[in-house]
Amino acid sequence: MAEITCSRCGGTKEAVQNTAFYRGEVREKLLAHACQDCWSEWIKMQIMLINEYRLNLMDPKTDEFLNKQILAFFKLDEGGEMANVDFVPPSQ
Ligand SMILES: [Zn+2]
Repeated sequence: MAEITCSRCGGTKEAVQNTAFYRGEVREKLLAHACQDCWSEWIKMQIMLINEYRLNLMDPKTDEFLNKQILAFFKLDEGGEMANVDFVPPSQ
């Protein structure tokens, strides 16, 4: 079990094991900086976002949006914010 310093909670904890559909650079960042506990919180947040914006997971714009949100959530995106207000749902 890899222990990392989580960029969100600051704790030294077990790193997230399975980054679901996050891939590439985002996945690398999560594996290096995201703890399992905060990941669980993110999953709840993600469900909220998907429901609130009726996101279509087959839409590449949804990927783009969630990638941005998760990096902001884990404070890995310089200047990134959890922007719930100005987001226009991709498929509406
Ligand atoms: Zn954490």
